[in-house]
Parts: sequence; C-alpha cells; structure tokens
Amino acid sequence: MKHVLDLTIKSKMNFVWLLVLTMATASFFTACNNNKTTGGENGKYSQKVDSILSGMTLEEKVGQMTQVTLDILMKGENRASSYEPIELDMDSVMQAFGKYKTGSVLNTANNRARTPEKWNEIVATLQEVCLAETGIPLLYGIDAIHGATYTAGATLFPQQIGQAATFNPPLVEKASEITAYETRASSIPWTFSPVMDMGRDPRWARMWETYGESQYLNAVMGIAAVEGYQGTGEDIDKNHIAACLKHFLAYASNSGKDRTPINIASRQLHEIYVPSFAAAITAGAKTVMGNSGIINGIPAHASHDVMTTLLRDELGFEGVLVTDWSDINNLYTRDHFASSKKDAVKLAINAGIDMAMVPYEYDFCTDLVELVNEGAVPLSRIDEAVRRILTLKYELGLFDHPVTLLSDYPDFGCDAFENAALETAIESISLLKNEKSILPLEKNKRVLVCGPNANSMRTLNGGWSYSWQGEKVEEFAQDYHTILESIQDKIGEANMIFSEGVSYNMAGNFYLENTPDIGAAVKAAAGVDHIILCLGENSYCEKPGDLHDLYLSDNQTQLALELAKTGKPLILILNEGRPRIISKIEYLMDAVVQIYLPGNFGGEALAEVLYGDANPSGKLPYTYPMFPNSLITYDYKLAELQQAPEGMYNYASDMAVQYEFGHGLSYTTFEYSDFEVSKADFDPDDTLSISIKIKNTGKISGKEVVMLYSSDEYASIAPDNKKLIRFKKIELQAGESKTVSFDLSASDLAFYNSDNLRIAEKGDFILRISNFEKKITLSENITFGEPSSLRL
Ligand code: BGC
Repeated sequence: MKHVLDLTIKSKMNFVWLLVLTMATASFFTACNNNKTTGGENGKYSQKVDSILSGMTLEEKVGQMTQVTLDILMKGENRASSYEPIELDMDSVMQAFGKYKTGSVLNTANNRARTPEKWNEIVATLQEVCLAETGIPLLYGIDAIHGATYTAGATLFPQQIGQAATFNPPLVEKASEITAYETRASSIPWTFSPVMDMGRDPRWARMWETYGESQYLNAVMGIAAVEGYQGTGEDIDKNHIAACLKHFLAYASNSGKDRTPINIASRQLHEIYVPSFAAAITAGAKTVMGNSGIINGIPAHASHDVMTTLLRDELGFEGVLVTDWSDINNLYTRDHFASSKKDAVKLAINAGIDMAMVPYEYDFCTDLVELVNEGAVPLSRIDEAVRRILTLKYELGLFDHPVTLLSDYPDFGCDAFENAALETAIESISLLKNEKSILPLEKNKRVLVCGPNANSMRTLNGGWSYSWQGEKVEEFAQDYHTILESIQDKIGEANMIFSEGVSYNMAGNFYLENTPDIGAAVKAAAGVDHIILCLGENSYCEKPGDLHDLYLSDNQTQLALELAKTGKPLILILNEGRPRIISKIEYLMDAVVQIYLPGNFGGEALAEVLYGDANPSGKLPYTYPMFPNSLITYDYKLAELQQAPEGMYNYASDMAVQYEFGHGLSYTTFEYSDFEVSKADFDPDDTLSISIKIKNTGKISGKEVVMLYSSDEYASIAPDNKKLIRFKKIELQAGESKTVSFDLSASDLAFYNSDNLRIAEKGDFILRISNFEKKITLSENITFGEPSSLRL
C-alpha cells in the first residue's frame, strides 16, 4: 500500500496577514522574521557558517555566488546541447567545481523533463564532484511551478491563476506541499516559485503565472504556497524545499509586453507590488529572485533602493537574493545601463544581489574577483552574500544529506496526490455564464466537441510543463485525459462527435494556427443537441508569449460565429493563460466556462462540472475585459466609472467589463442575510467584528466564497473603488446556513499617501459583502510605521 503524506493544513494565513498589516516598519519585519530564520549574525548556523567562511579564498566565495545552467555541464556541441541520451561532460563539470568553485546549478538539460531516477543520478554526480572540489554541497534550483515541472511522472496542478480562482488557500498549500515532496524526490531542494508579481495586465504573457489582480488574494495565496513548499519549521526537512519569491519588484510593464519598462510612482509600488512579497517574506520565504525589468529608468537588478533599502531594511528579508536569467549581463548588453559586463557585476552586487543566475559562462567569477581586489566591491558584501547562501544550505540539510534517496519518497505520483490535483482543478473552474441554466448537461444528449483546445494536453497545462514552453506535454502526459477524452468517458462514444474546426500549428509560435476547416465543424453540428466549443490559447511562457492583439484569434472567432448560426446551444470553454477578448462572440453563447490552465486533470475536472458531478465554485481572480482599450482592474479609481451621457454624444467611455473580478456562478443559489458590524464608530485601537449569514437555498450542496470589500469614502489620495480585504470559502449542504465572521482593524483600511506613509485616514468607510453594505467611521488618523524611503 502506498504511504500518503500527512496533508494536514497548519495554515496560519490570517495570522501572518494580520502581522503584515499591523507592521510596515523595518523593526517589525525584522522582529517577525527572527522567529522564522536561522540566518543572520546570531542565527542557529552562524558559527558553522563563519568557520567555513573564514577558511575560504575570495575565488571560493565568488564561486558560491555563481549559478550556471545544467546545459553547459552536459555533452553536446552548443551551450543548449541537443545530445541525447544526456550525459554529463566531466571536463565541464570539473571546470564548474574544480576551477570556478560554482555553488549552484539550475534548470534541466535540453529543456526536457527527466525521470526522478535520472535526476537523482545527475544530482548525485554533481554533488560528489562539488563536495570533493569545494567541500560545500551544491544548491540545485529549478522551476517547479505547478508541480515538479521537470520531473516525468510528477503531479501537475492548475497553474497559479487557476489556483487563485479556487479562493481556497488550503488547496494551494497542499499543491505546494506535494510539489515540494516530488521535487525533493528528484534530489532538488529549491524551486523558483511562487510568483508574487501582480496579474493586473491581461495583455501580459505571464498573467497565468500570478495569483491575479488583488493584493490581498496574492498575499494569502503566497503565504499558503511558502508554507506548503517549506513547511513551517525553521529548517527545511527532507519532504520540503526552499521557496523563491519572484520577481522583486514590480515585474509588469506599461506596454503589456514581457520584460519592458514600467514607469510608476513609488507610492504605487508600495500600494500594489509590495504587499504580496511582504506577506510571503513574513511567512518565512528563504529566497527571492530579482525582476528583469526597468522601473522608472533604473533596472531593478542595479537598484540599491529596491534590492537593499526596500527588500532588506524595510521588509526585513534575510535570505538569499538571486538574479533572474542573465540579468547582470542584461544591465550591459540589453539596457546599456552598465558600460561593460564587469561594470554590470559591480552595480548588481553592490545593489545587494547574492547569487548570479549567470547562467552560461564564468566571466562573472573573474570579474567579481577583480572588482573586490580593486576595491570596487567591498569584501563585506561578498561575505554577507556567501553567509546567506551557506546558511540556506545548512537549513536545507544539504551538508548532511546532499542527495535524497528515491526510496524515501514512496508517495511520488500516488493516487492521493493526483486526487488533490483533480480537486484543485475542479475548484478552479469558474462558471461565467449559464443562460436558462443550460448547465449541467444531461448525459444522454448528443454533443459536438470542437475547437483547438478540445483534444490537447498541452493547452490544458500551458508553459512550465515538462519544458519551458510546454511543447513537449503530449509526450509526457499520455496517461491523462483531454477534454474530449474526458467527455467521452462521461457520456460514451455514441453520444459524442469531434470536429476540431480550428487547430494550432504545433511546430511554430504559440499563436500560429493551421488552415481552419470550419465547414466540417458546422456540418458535424447537424445531428447534435449541444456544442461544446473549446477555445483559448496554445501554450507559451515569458517573452515568446507576447501578443499584438488581445482578441481571441480570428479563426476561433469565426468558428464560434459560424457555429452560432446553426442555432444549437453553445457552451464555450475558455482554456487560456490570460483573458483573450471574446466580446465578438460572447453574446451568442449560452454558457461560458473558464478553466484557465488546469493541468493534467483539467479535462476530467471539466467533465465533472459540465455533467453535474461537481458543482462549480471558482471565482475570477481578475477582471475580464470586453475591449482592448478598456483594460481595468476591480480597484479602479471612481473617475474611471464615467458613462457616456445621453443625447448627441455617444462615446465609448464606460469601463466595458465582460466579467467582474470575483465573478463565478454555481448550480445552487446562496442567500445572504444578517450583515452585522460590531461598531459603526471606531477608534484606531478597536477591532471590528463583521459577520454575515449565508444559506444554500438550492437543491444541491455547493461552495461559496464570501468576500469582504472596503471603500474609503474620501481620502488624500483619490480612493479606489473598492478593495478586497477578507474572503472565506465555505461549503453548504442544500438548505444549510452558516455565519461567517471576520475581524478587522484600522490597518485593513490603510493606504500609502503622497509621503510614502501607510495611513488610515479618519472618516467614513463602506464595508460590503455581496449586496449588503454598512458605513463605519474611523475617529482619527492612524499611521503605520515610518514613511518608506523608497524613491524611484
Ligand atoms: C524567468 C524566471 C525563471 C528563470 C529560471 C527566467 O527567464 O523569468 O521566472 O525562474 O528564468 O528558469
């Protein structure tokens, strides 16, 4: 019998969030982190670390700060080798550890998943040489993003955007815990996850890697992910791995294209981009990765303000700060901010970087040694970085167990893990439209299944799935079921016809499609009762996912329009990484179901929902736009709410939202009542108790997300329309009622003012749950901490 991990959730999410809110001073964060960290001058491992450090040469120290990609250690002709079966090139391995004393390796060879056995073999060899040549274990890092991305047979969950849509933090914690276990089973102790960037721009190719547009949702899910990956102890045991919060800070852009600059006020940096990182740091995250981008003209990797003043002094982060891919070189080659590669190294290390994801060469090592010898980089900066790296290696137990034994991980890929992935996929599914309650469908009705996303495991998984861009998914995910296969399993072959209509060109860029055959799909619709139309996007990741046009592709739009002419009821399934605009076809759809990128169990999860074996409970973690020029988030400023006036002027000034943030229907109905707030007038020290009763008034059980929003009536910075400040997901049987309560303090109502100071200003606030609202009045201003000194 398989052993199953203890998946008890020991989540302290609300507690950590309360800490984050009541802080905002450097001293608070530091005090808070001291409970979680074993690092620092007085940490648990400081004596051991200092003793190693005192015997190290400068070259050895710089080696610890170096991270290279596995590709350059493999046999093969080019740096991204294509030699298969893969084999370590021992000359290159000796160069890495013998000559350059490299401390860290990342990624996978030839951009392809490997079996856990292969991983153990590779990492064991690297560790052996590394220990022999440097005396210090290697720190291996990988993008285990929605499961152990690069380990064949691992359990793949919905991508972060789908996990956010569950509004169920324990599921996120469980997913991260399983990911940690399966990554560690591969002898890898460090993941570059979770993404703590904000998903506030639907154009961005990395929307799906985020937890969506609300700071609070991001913070809560970030805490859950960190606790799932790392466990909650000081050290990280052999079932857990170190998390890496990325990409610090403000990885977003004005253009919507990946890795292009952002111009933003310092105050907004705090308001929008800091809270998720602050929460996850307070939860004990051991590492952080830098943002590749440029903020107000300054590349983040060269910014002492961002990497030291904010991250260390104000947020109290004590762990390891690693660069993103090649981002020190980028300061010179891409940004022309540094005047040479060596200048770039100086800027980044002096800004506060501890480890360079170089990743293809060793010039970093020679440049940094020279810079220290020339006095351009202080030795104290090097010692500080190496101390953090060595501490992490101790915390991970690598000095005692540099590799793991696969036999110690009997639960790898077990049924319980797969069930957790299925449950998460089901809870992520968001029913956006259900005219005349057309869903759930009856199992004896005939359906046409069509669209490019109907029969693809690749589109269900998206990027970071067995390879960077997800193009190798079909090879590794044969045992799982596409949407088509899952519907067929549910209703039988006789009740189902498949005609793709439009298909992706799998050999080229993600947006390329083959010549469509819409006529065939229309013809196939003749004898069916319903059409299940599966549209969206092919897999992509990062820059290759850049887009010129947010509308759904022309071919897919045309397919929907032609099928609508048949008069058959249309159920639109959206399988996409970002909200592609569907306003040209949405009004013709009878139902719309958003499945995001649900992972290997997405097909089954959808079939459960379509046929009523599961009741949908996912909610949109972002605002679904209606037009490309009307991109907005739920916390818009009131001035954005203007409507076109009646009469001669008929201009397109309204916000034109397709579906609101938090939207998601159920097959049952919920009635809210008895909204209570303990005090209408409150002082800065008061805690408010808020409660509301929810009744399941339908005929089946269901889950509901109770969301509490606040709105500041008047403020010295024009207030946001509303802010999500608490949520709770509950399950109710038919006819059952529950009362949900939240505690609030003035800190929950605060914002950053023009002095970069967090403040709750006296006056009126509206609290809202569902259609209920109550006014509360804060008696006086209260500030939290000192003004941030971040000025960019
Ligand atoms: C991405 C990071 C990722 C890193 C390592 C970069 O291109 O921006 O998110 O962790 O590569 O693969």
